[in-house]
Amino acid sequence: MITIHDKTFTPFISQETIENRIAELASQINTDYEGRKPFFLVVLNGAFLFASELVKNIPLSCEITFVRLSSYSQTESTGKVRQIIGLEETLTDRDVIIIEDIVDTGLTMHQLLQQISDLGPNSIEIATLLHKPDAIKKPIDLRYVGFEIPNRFVVGYGLDYDGLGRNLDALYVLPE
Ligand code: 5GP
Repeated sequence: MITIHDKTFTPFISQETIENRIAELASQINTDYEGRKPFFLVVLNGAFLFASELVKNIPLSCEITFVRLSSYSQTESTGKVRQIIGLEETLTDRDVIIIEDIVDTGLTMHQLLQQISDLGPNSIEIATLLHKPDAIKKPIDLRYVGFEIPNRFVVGYGLDYDGLGRNLDALYVLPE
């Protein structure tokens, strides 16, 4: 059990299980991208540990860049839009692999995919450590998924609860 702020979380997925699974994802990517030079687009902050563990297992020649998504901003025509911050490279004709911590409703990823595809890459795939299928609102083709999990709040391995818990080396869950 671990307490963060006012909440107590219970152990969910161990470091060993996480890292074994990430090694499997890396090996799929190594096979799928043989002879190509993937461009990893890591979405901060949550994906930093997943991304570092993943790319350590990928010997392919590749580029790795880090972006943030702005807080929600409102426009009359589009509603809530999150912009990509920190992307300086051109993505034209690149084989982009987005690295995310978790796809929950899918709304964030849906917007990100639209914005990335406007930049003219050759291909876009998604690698997400976690996915909550029961929470999805926008169906998205997720090529590399670490774990499908129930619709409960998790923390650790990069994911935070109100700013804390990202450094935990395993995943913890809020009991129902
Ligand atoms: P979506 O747009 O898919 O609903 O939300 C994705 C974002 O919500 C993630 O990148 C993450 O920041 C946050 N999120 C969703 N579920 C969880 C969760 O269980 N734990 C934490 N720490 N963040 C979550």
